[in-house]
Amino acid sequence: MQEFPKHPFRTHGGAPVPHHKNTWNAPSAVLPPPERVIIPMQQHIGAPCKPTVKKGDHVYVGQVVGDNDAFVCAPIHASVSGTVNSITKVLLTGGQMTEAVIIDSDGQMEPDPSIAPPPPIKSKKELADAARKAGLVGLGGAGFPAHVKLNVPDGKNIDTLIINVAECEPYVTSDHREALENGKNVLDGIYKVKEILDVHRVLIAVEDNKPDVIQKLTEIADDPQKDPKDEVRVLALKSRYPQGAEKVLVQACTGRKVAPGQLPADVGCLVMNIASVSFLASFMRTGMPLTLKRVTIDGSAIKNPQNVIVPIGTPIKDVVEFCGGYKSEPRKILMGGPMMGIAITSDELPILKQNNAILAFDAREAQQYETTACIRCGRCVAACPMELMPTKLEKATEKKDVEALQELDIMTCMECGCCAFSCPAGRRLVQAIRLGKSYVRKAGKK
Ligand code: SF4
Ligand code: SF4
Repeated sequence: MQEFPKHPFRTHGGAPVPHHKNTWNAPSAVLPPPERVIIPMQQHIGAPCKPTVKKGDHVYVGQVVGDNDAFVCAPIHASVSGTVNSITKVLLTGGQMTEAVIIDSDGQMEPDPSIAPPPPIKSKKELADAARKAGLVGLGGAGFPAHVKLNVPDGKNIDTLIINVAECEPYVTSDHREALENGKNVLDGIYKVKEILDVHRVLIAVEDNKPDVIQKLTEIADDPQKDPKDEVRVLALKSRYPQGAEKVLVQACTGRKVAPGQLPADVGCLVMNIASVSFLASFMRTGMPLTLKRVTIDGSAIKNPQNVIVPIGTPIKDVVEFCGGYKSEPRKILMGGPMMGIAITSDELPILKQNNAILAFDAREAQQYETTACIRCGRCVAACPMELMPTKLEKATEKKDVEALQELDIMTCMECGCCAFSCPAGRRLVQAIRLGKSYVRKAGKK
């Protein structure tokens, strides 16, 4: 068996963000059935689904309510039983309109009677098909359809499966709770994926601010019955944001660099989020597709911060009410963590498959700092994990200089926010970069 180095590798940049992991040590609560769910047809990267039900239809939990033949797409399922109230348009956080199936719950949470455990999965194709049937998308926040990722192209040799439990975003603890509450499921999922993909080396990457997760997963990963060819190991990584970003994680775990335009599969790695492998194991046991999501509800405006398991499509305000409501007027509500999350304008929006947190902050915590002139200190450059020049990107955006933006590799930016976090002048670097990317896309379309 090939010998691999045992220690994590150094990566460039990053930021020492405060952790604020306030909810890590409380068991997840389960939300009672909501009165209504709003199920948008776009909950993944790729083509939106088309509704497969109509107004007045009775639906069961786990029944398909949206699908599309496009390859980069994942079907969407009803998360409650009840009646389709309407098919309408909703505005998503990214600003795009999409169709949504609105379901009035009958409170029964009756599962689709046709759901049954799938036959044993024996091939890569069957694994990818199962992930698609289950509606699985990257549950760590990316929302990339899992069947596309598992469909490893011929000729790409995967020798390392990396399980992402870094959870480097402040406040967010939903993966932490998954590891503690469903550790056995996680290991079942890992062993199944590694067996089917014929990968013998699995690295479970956890930031070192989660010693209980490291201990728990180390205990169960250390299976004396395992094949002597197998290496299933927990790797404690330094807590430094954005350790959980896919390219950073691959480098920290293996020392291999994923170049711009490449995927982890190009350097022999497959990265899966812990909640995704755990869900795959439960789907193989029960056949129930993805209808529930664990979400961290936290922030200074939330009365009782905690992790809650909710039916997908539940309006955010219902989940906040379950957590005791707001203790002060929320000035800013984020879908996701404070570094990469998106600010939303209404808590009527639904929880989506890829949401791992909702954070609500009061006026004091949400206050914007004044921006001053760039002092050319270079801290943003030192902080960038992709080795970009954020300050030059900002200038090129101001000039709408698409050629310069392309030369500076703007599309490689993963919008992690390390540059803005490190900037003593409070420059809005990420906003400028997002704008710059839109200029490049527009120019490409022309
Ligand atoms: S937001 Fe982009 S430019 Fe800024 S540090 Fe992250 S990757 Fe680099
Ligand atoms: S960190 Fe801020 S002040 Fe320093 S070079 Fe970058 S943009 Fe300028």
